[in-house]
Amino acid sequence: MRHGLRKMAALLAGALLLTLAGCEQEAAGPENSAGTGGIPAAQTSSEDFQKNMHQSSALRLRRNKLYETEEGIFFQMGSVVRYLDKETKRETILCGKPECTHEDESCNAYLDATNLWMYNGRFYFDNSDYIEENGTFVNKGDRIYSASIDGTDRQVVQNLEFEPGGDTAHAVDPILHRGIVYFGYNGVLYRVPLGEDISKAEKLWGEEILDDGSPFADFNALHLDLWADGDTVYFMANLEQPDGTYKDTLFAYDTTTKEISQVWKTPDADAVGEWETTGVSVTQWYVMDNAIYFYLSGGGLWRGDLSTGENVKLADVQERAASGTGLFSDDYFLVVNDEPTPQVLGFVDDVTGRNGGDTVYVYRLDGTFVRELSLQSLYDEVEDLLHIQPVCCTGDDFYFEANTVSSEETTDTQNIWSGSHRVRGHILCCLDLNTGEITQIYNYVLGN
Ligand SMILES: [Zn+2]
Repeated sequence: MRHGLRKMAALLAGALLLTLAGCEQEAAGPENSAGTGGIPAAQTSSEDFQKNMHQSSALRLRRNKLYETEEGIFFQMGSVVRYLDKETKRETILCGKPECTHEDESCNAYLDATNLWMYNGRFYFDNSDYIEENGTFVNKGDRIYSASIDGTDRQVVQNLEFEPGGDTAHAVDPILHRGIVYFGYNGVLYRVPLGEDISKAEKLWGEEILDDGSPFADFNALHLDLWADGDTVYFMANLEQPDGTYKDTLFAYDTTTKEISQVWKTPDADAVGEWETTGVSVTQWYVMDNAIYFYLSGGGLWRGDLSTGENVKLADVQERAASGTGLFSDDYFLVVNDEPTPQVLGFVDDVTGRNGGDTVYVYRLDGTFVRELSLQSLYDEVEDLLHIQPVCCTGDDFYFEANTVSSEETTDTQNIWSGSHRVRGHILCCLDLNTGEITQIYNYVLGN
């Protein structure tokens, strides 16, 4: 039964991708897009999991499609990878082919990654394509590929499914940490060296969840958020409690001792004050130096000690932002004061469930308030600006997506959700946390 659902989901996803591919195009971008910096030369990057790049739930720049090097940030918009120079704030598509339209798989930048990493100077990325073999399309399942830094020299590296294209129900985004891939399969967490055959994968945690014929898998039990900091790999599981509710629960895998221990779980709402929701799941968290920093919209900034389990409030964020979306880096905790929008049927305007945001509140990670910065000038400058969504913070640069929705309706017969929808844009911007200066970097338009 689940197999059928999965197939259906794959077909729907395919239809959606076709739809998106059919109507997406690049806008005449902001000034910075015009002069590009060219395809980057060799890049230097650490082999560690990138905590600060793993924060975003933005519509177009999700956390698993960002990779930072010392010089810049690679990011995937749609299916193509672009490169942003952190110094100049100029970006360019990762394709040097003359006359290329950058629209299909013939483009060097077309990686279509589900997760994107770099290792030993090459790209590594996964996706689960159907591959044409002898005239039929074969489901190869989720696989890792590699490519050189200019997008050429593609190679299949390894499978992430024991039965490629089989009845897998894994809702886990793999991570790469120090040359080891951590991934989930049927409710079990595994680790395997990058490039090693999946049969050599080592089981770390969890019980296999097999198809029992019931129509719905327990997605709470299948979902894990993976993380790593130094010698420790963490995973956040959402576990059922004795009272029937689910709670985010953090486990630590020590890569030196090979031991796994439960180190933290979300405190009850009454233990940490009023939260906008019931307090069984944290929306923003960051694990560093044996502590978890966490925030839930409408509440404070907290630090949980992973040795003692003790939670201490670091800042009363709600006094400045009654509601907001947070973002962590090794240095800062940032809050954009966006607000929940009433739930409406449909996927068009309220896909994030939140709108607005005109101020960024800057805190140090120890809870010290630094300053607030206004984004009002962006609203004055950009027509139809609807929502600010945090993407990542590195050094003193805060990157965010400015989402626009035009009041103009367009009819798009390919849209499977509704007959007409409004033109949407996603502008990648950078806010300098010292000066408050905003740079518009890249504008991606959908639906016109
Ligand atoms: Zn191209």
